[in-house]
Amino acid sequence: MTAANRRPIIAGNWKMNTKPEEARTLAAVVRDQLPAVPGIDVILCPPFVSLALVAGEVDESPISVGAQNMYPEPSGAYTGEISPEMLASICRYVILGHSERRSLFNEASGFVNRKVLAAIANGLRPIVCVGETLDQRDAGRTALVLRRQTRTSLADVSDFTTLAIAYEPIWAIGTGRAATPQDATDGITTIRETVASMVGASVAEAVPILYGGSVNPENAASLFEQPQVDGGLVGGAALQAGQFVQIAVAAQKSLR
Ligand code: PEP
Repeated sequence: MTAANRRPIIAGNWKMNTKPEEARTLAAVVRDQLPAVPGIDVILCPPFVSLALVAGEVDESPISVGAQNMYPEPSGAYTGEISPEMLASICRYVILGHSERRSLFNEASGFVNRKVLAAIANGLRPIVCVGETLDQRDAGRTALVLRRQTRTSLADVSDFTTLAIAYEPIWAIGTGRAATPQDATDGITTIRETVASMVGASVAEAVPILYGGSVNPENAASLFEQPQVDGGLVGGAALQAGQFVQIAVAAQKSLR
């Protein structure tokens, strides 16, 4: 366990990659290669169309399944969207507020907040992403941005026990330029202090906060060794079963 007995999470965000048969195969290879990693939650987040296939493949294994997005209404005239109820019948987790949703689809923190509340109300466990752009970082505004995104995205959440947060500096996502362990610690500390100011220190201490952004087998150990870093949200490396498994093993080795 981490310093405050938080259970680390390693989640693979496959983004818009893998056709259904490829997703099924990737899930099967991860399942077969993953050694026992007690104390760690391992989650695969394939595209919507492969959720059920992947869930079937990892059924009866310790691996869980998550979606990459959802719409915050139960049903109705929302062409192309997927509701929390639909997801809850297939998977347990959902990534919300990923920077690609925020930047490419104009999703602001207020909308992310509606999703977070709807996910929790339907028994899903949200992994809520926050992170600053390179311009914001260079302007010395990282803490300000993280505080604002955290406060708005998590407003009115009354139950933090099923929630995880991912600190994903945008300049580190898909760039091969991961944050340093100190940068990751600083960002996560700011997020945890913000949650503490909202709901109290003991609740904040119990929330897993992951790091995401170019995590790979080479840098995983140094990131996960940081007491504040409770695992990782992994993009590119999650598409390579061997790399993803190595990252999960690194998280397991960092357990204290
Ligand atoms: C992500 O998409 O959440 C991510 C962290 O991607 P990558 O690992 O490829 O930087």
